[in-house]
Amino acid sequence: MQPAVIAIHGGAGTITRAAMDATREREYIEALQHVLQAGQRILAEGGSALDAVTEAVRLLEECPLFNAGKGAVLTHAGTYELDAAVMDGATLEAGAVACVTRLRNPVLAARAVLDHSEHVLFAGAGAEAFAQAQGLELVAPEYYFTQARHDQWQRALGNAGMALLDHDAAALAAQGQVGPADPIDPDSKFGTVGAVACDSRGNLAAATSTGGVTNKQVGRVGDTPVIGAGCYADDVAAVSATGTGEMFIRTVAAYDVAAQMRYAGLPLEEAARRVVTEKLPAINGRGGLIAVDRAGNVTLPFNTEGMYRGFARVGEAVNVSIYG
Ligand code: ASP
Repeated sequence: MQPAVIAIHGGAGTITRAAMDATREREYIEALQHVLQAGQRILAEGGSALDAVTEAVRLLEECPLFNAGKGAVLTHAGTYELDAAVMDGATLEAGAVACVTRLRNPVLAARAVLDHSEHVLFAGAGAEAFAQAQGLELVAPEYYFTQARHDQWQRALGNAGMALLDHDAAALAAQGQVGPADPIDPDSKFGTVGAVACDSRGNLAAATSTGGVTNKQVGRVGDTPVIGAGCYADDVAAVSATGTGEMFIRTVAAYDVAAQMRYAGLPLEEAARRVVTEKLPAINGRGGLIAVDRAGNVTLPFNTEGMYRGFARVGEAVNVSIYG
């Protein structure tokens, strides 16, 4: 029997210095704890890593605090386009959806692709038709709406059409134009969610889901649904990433963690550290990842000031952190 473990993330970014809101911080901590406990229960009952990560990410999609499912960020056109992926390390089976606009839980669509399709990645209307045929719930775009994301989009639009930079957000906050709220600055946060797990049989799995980056161009697809970039699992490691998606695609970041372990014999922590603190920064990649190996080791590195993250071993207390 392996020491079963699950780890999750809810995005990385810059810590809000203006005015930390303790209530808001508690909301994030409690949300992460709740999701970890659910994943921990599945693993404790002998459930698979694949089921544990799918359910953890579904719960994160349901929580409006995170940029996935309800609470997703807006495109430049003020629309929502969501991406998700899931991968089973035991079989190398994978499923992903990109640019979906009407699915309540993109991760369940990704899982349905893995379970019920010969294909790996569906995009747009075809992904939605496939999910609908699988009996998954469709929603109107208003379902994803939160005032916080809408305001964030408005600020990005006002900023010459670019996503807000860290110092812009900090300056606005100092002028009182941005609510104190979140521990991690929502304007500079990469708010993707993800989960990785090792089950009692030593099988690994990973799942990742996102609304993408605020004010992105319509049709832009990030690293999240790209197998090997924002999500990857084999029999060596399972990895889920969050950050500047383009750089995670260019470094094949999630796969690179497993590849360095397999080909160079690096331990999990060192392989992940090289990706996050050397390879990504070399091309201005910002963010972090969570990873687990089949011995149940866990690592949660990031190159930003903070990352919503946590892990839980079966039979042990849940660990949750936000800051570095
Ligand atoms: N990696 C995601 C993307 O580029 C964004 C994020 O992590 O928040 O779509």
